[in-house]
Amino acid sequence: MRLIFIGPPGAGKGTQAERVLAYLKIAHLSTGDMLREAVQKQTPEGLSAKQYMDRGDLVPDEVVVAIVARRLSEPDCAAGCLLDGFPRTVAQAESLDKMLAGSGQPLDGVIELRVDEEALVKRLASRGRADDQPDVIRQRLVAYRKQTEPLLDFYRQQGLLHSVDGLGTPDEVFARIRSVLDHLQRG
Ligand code: ADP
Repeated sequence: MRLIFIGPPGAGKGTQAERVLAYLKIAHLSTGDMLREAVQKQTPEGLSAKQYMDRGDLVPDEVVVAIVARRLSEPDCAAGCLLDGFPRTVAQAESLDKMLAGSGQPLDGVIELRVDEEALVKRLASRGRADDQPDVIRQRLVAYRKQTEPLLDFYRQQGLLHSVDGLGTPDEVFARIRSVLDHLQRG
């Protein structure tokens, strides 16, 4: 199973990603986690990514695509993978299509977690990560609307998009996601 998980910052994607991984027992590919690790280790990629992340801007496509290409070729990912936080731009999605076509690994579906903006800002402000300062949060939401939302149409046109209401308790939200997953697995 190869899935993409899309949602604005603060939508509860991290919590739900953990549940999806436990349910499907597939590998996790989180560009946010991989980028934070690169920043912490001060690798060349991390050093170039940090300035963008600190501002709430997207890291340039070529940096992210290189990280993803490496991760996708690892054996655990080849068997099935949850792409969490990637792709985030149409250019990234096109690169991903090429990578997956090259290795004969089609996408099974794209799950969008939908939450209204007021709820997002509230959740993020209570989290306390370095990039959860109010002005950085606002910039991440702007980046989501401008650069990531166009992806929804890209995948809708391919018949891959499944939108899930992200409002409610983690159990309620996961029940909605699980019914999409069960539908995909039967598919
Ligand atoms: P959130 O969904 O809360 O914004 P992430 O951990 O997914 O958190 O991302 C944190 C930051 O890492 C983003 O604001 C961005 O700077 C960078 N980042 C993560 N994934 C990508 C990506 N696919 N393309 C560009 N930048 C990314």
